[in-house]
Amino acid sequence: MTRCTAPLRTLSYDLSRDDGLRTRVLALDGDPGWSVENAGPVFTVVVDGVTITGTSPGLRVEGVTSVRRDDGVVDETTRCRYEEHAADAGDGEYAGDVGAAADGLAVGIDWHVRRYPDLPLVETWVSVTNRGRRAVTVERLDSVGLTIPAGRYELLSYTSAWGREFDGDREPLTAGRSIGTLAGRSSHGMHPWLGLVRDDGAVLCGAVAWSGNWVVRFEEAPETAKPSATEETSEGWKPNEGHNEGYIVTGGLHDQGFAKRLRPGETVDAPPVVLALGSDGDLDTTSIALARAARAYWAPRNALAERLPVEWNHWWTYEDHSVDAATFRANVDVAAELGVEVVTLDAGWFGPADASSAWTDVRGDWDQVNTARFPEGIRALADHAHARGLRFGLWCEIEALGPKATLASRRPDFPATRDGEPLGYVCLANPAAWQWAFETLDRLVREFGTDWIKLDFNLDPGLGCDRTDHGHGPGDGLFEHYRGYYRLLDRIRETHPHVVLENCSSGGLRIDLGIMRHTHLTFLSDPDWPEHGLQLLWGGDDDAAAEPAPALGLLRVARPPSAPDVRPARPRPPTAPARLLSPDRDARGDRLLLWAPEPAGVGAGPAPRAGPGLPGAGPPVRPHRRRAPAHRGAAPVRGGRAVGGRAVRPTGRRRAPRVRVPAAGG
Ligand SMILES: [Zn+2]
Repeated sequence: MTRCTAPLRTLSYDLSRDDGLRTRVLALDGDPGWSVENAGPVFTVVVDGVTITGTSPGLRVEGVTSVRRDDGVVDETTRCRYEEHAADAGDGEYAGDVGAAADGLAVGIDWHVRRYPDLPLVETWVSVTNRGRRAVTVERLDSVGLTIPAGRYELLSYTSAWGREFDGDREPLTAGRSIGTLAGRSSHGMHPWLGLVRDDGAVLCGAVAWSGNWVVRFEEAPETAKPSATEETSEGWKPNEGHNEGYIVTGGLHDQGFAKRLRPGETVDAPPVVLALGSDGDLDTTSIALARAARAYWAPRNALAERLPVEWNHWWTYEDHSVDAATFRANVDVAAELGVEVVTLDAGWFGPADASSAWTDVRGDWDQVNTARFPEGIRALADHAHARGLRFGLWCEIEALGPKATLASRRPDFPATRDGEPLGYVCLANPAAWQWAFETLDRLVREFGTDWIKLDFNLDPGLGCDRTDHGHGPGDGLFEHYRGYYRLLDRIRETHPHVVLENCSSGGLRIDLGIMRHTHLTFLSDPDWPEHGLQLLWGGDDDAAAEPAPALGLLRVARPPSAPDVRPARPRPPTAPARLLSPDRDARGDRLLLWAPEPAGVGAGPAPRAGPGLPGAGPPVRPHRRRAPAHRGAAPVRGGRAVGGRAVRPTGRRRAPRVRVPAAGG
């Protein structure tokens, strides 16, 4: 078994700045490229109703700066300026400074290109600065603009719903197609990733690094992108069946519902889009490139996250209605015996002292502990876990606001609303709400001794908050909420660098390369049987699907199999077995098979397989196509017990049989 460390091919991405700003080359070295020279502009923005592209009259390229960071990443910025009166003159000539523009539209548009050494991927985004004397409104900010050559393409994408994340689709690419979501969560509806496979085998993967609404559009390219419309065959010249006009690919932040007002001198940066290239119809190389970029440059790290600890989370066995201090303590004891490393108290711990309260109702009242369930408080549970050598995890939906939470009445300035109706979340664009959120999480870490926070988000904000007393405008509430959320995550990591932040949203409905730059781990999906989780992780749940690795960019999922669902009976009779609902026991080894330190995959080591003699053992895991190296080795399971993964069923839909293992000492 060897780690996959082979060098990847070199990507060329160059711009033409002679006649506006166009893509000159986007290609792997030696391959037919992905750009049509001089066919189209690299960006599209809309300001005050005016569509501005890299080739608009009135646009002037002012210069280029290139900065090499210490880690080798190169940031290149092409500075452009658009003057409305220059456009009116029709000559594209710059007609003076801002003063000359009077009250006309004048904006600076920066096109950013981030290049990563030795990786066949590139990251692009656009920034707009108001250079005029009056406020303007930005209504569209595309971070990708690419005219791709004529040809036959297959479009790969993922639909995504609760318990059905990474459901792969393939379809012939057609002009007019667009993918995206307006749910207000990046991965509800569709996952922010796409693959294009051309009939010559060229592969392009794109991912929008943003947690809110996103879009990618495929439009018919203009005439200039056309190659020959006929081809020579043995029967003479015939219409080229593969012929089309080529496509213009645009997108990034979704323009629908978005409007951001900029005062003179203000700037807005669009979320980046990552493009990775491959060849031979093989998505693996793009997957590997994304995974390497994530490990080297994007993903936050700390010691606990690096270990990929085995976690137990109380939720699916007990939910909120049947968890209490005694139950949690009993599970902690079993978890310690099994070698589990993190025990997480999920929803149900907060709100008023009411054993019948529903967790969804009281989200927001994080300053209250439900002492009907946890009379000794939460710190005592953390101490209990720590005394057994375990780390303590705590669930919190810091953005959410339940309908019965007292927070809404205590702080009526916090809720996000749209057309006056509450949206069910705290608008983190509001500086006061942001400060409250930070102080709340900070306190939960300090007071409770929390080592791990599972940050959930169980609702769709849609187009988001349109209040005008939060510091944002009516059209950029969601945009500024997510920018606030990213800052919050960064601040918590700075303040508590040892604490792991686990991203979750109704399972995996907000997984994207944006949020993954601010959290250590990602919860993949709510259904907790291993077939489901593994199928999502390794193959989508469709044989024809692309793999989620390119979409995830890395393997930092919190499950599977890091969350064995340990359930001792409650109360626990001395002879009752613990029931492991998720992992199976593997009689052969003492390591988590699925996180063996070598890559698991085709031709790269043993695939996980069913343990011998286990009830309901299924067929071997379906070969998955990914060869990217596993990031972290598994921690040896302590206590002489072993927990291993079991086979993935091709459908990935069947609940695993419950597997009994001997109780502690048995
Ligand atoms: Zn707001």
